[in-house]
Amino acid sequence: MLEIKNLSCKVKDTDKKILSNLSLKINDGETHVIMGPNGTGKSTLSKIIMGHYNYEVISGDIIFNNTNLLELDTSARARLGIFLAMQDPTVISGVSNSEFLKEAIQEIKGEKVNLYSFIKEMESNMKNLNLSNDMLHRSINEGYSGGEKKKNEVLQLKMLKPKLIILDELDSGLDVDSLKVCCSNINNYLKENKNTSVLIITHYPRILEYIKPDYVHILSNGKIIKTGDFSLAKEIENSGYSSINEIRKNDYCE
Ligand code: ADP
Ligand code: MG
Repeated sequence: MLEIKNLSCKVKDTDKKILSNLSLKINDGETHVIMGPNGTGKSTLSKIIMGHYNYEVISGDIIFNNTNLLELDTSARARLGIFLAMQDPTVISGVSNSEFLKEAIQEIKGEKVNLYSFIKEMESNMKNLNLSNDMLHRSINEGYSGGEKKKNEVLQLKMLKPKLIILDELDSGLDVDSLKVCCSNINNYLKENKNTSVLIITHYPRILEYIKPDYVHILSNGKIIKTGDFSLAKEIENSGYSSINEIRKNDYCE
């Protein structure tokens, strides 16, 4: 599905290097987790995969189902089936949720949507997410609560039907009940679309109680320094990142 090879990147027009020689392979149907302290490059990695204009790839490759993503712009990457639920979803005034999703689906499918079945599907997904129907007509993320913003990202995910889902701190700003609702909606989607792969970016193992990971990676200073399973996330919950930093000092210093 996704293969990142020796990726290094920096902030465009500056010398600020963020990712350094990062490699990661995600097969069809796998769920991977990237954990790491603040400021280690987690969000940058998600933005680089989507082709954010603010970052420049210095070296390395990102291959998605045999296609070199680095040659494509963001909309082409979305058309291939990559979806990012953003850590801080962007406000877009004057564009309603329903207009936006209708246009996005039409762009991805390359054909007109049937308005009746589109609205029915939106309403059913919104009900499952405990979102009120007036959100259909509200501007994207304008005046939404933290929880509504994150649920709206999951609504977009369910409507756009991606092959690779990236969740950048879905759990931040969500209370426990909302987190459960978001995760059960994502799990239902994964049950119906078994080849879908997931990349979860998080600080806390709590979200992993609801969405079970196959692999847990620790990101430090722009590279993956350790890979394990769910027990690695538990280890971090119990001992913090400092224990992992010790491993880094001993084994990974350049
Ligand atoms: P994380 O998501 O792991 O908390 P980020 O990927 O958001 O971290 O950021 C990694 C580092 O790169 C941080 O020090 C951040 O300040 C810096 N950074 C990210 N984007 C920019 C930018 N556009 N300009 C300057 N520095 C940036
Ligand atoms: Mg972040």
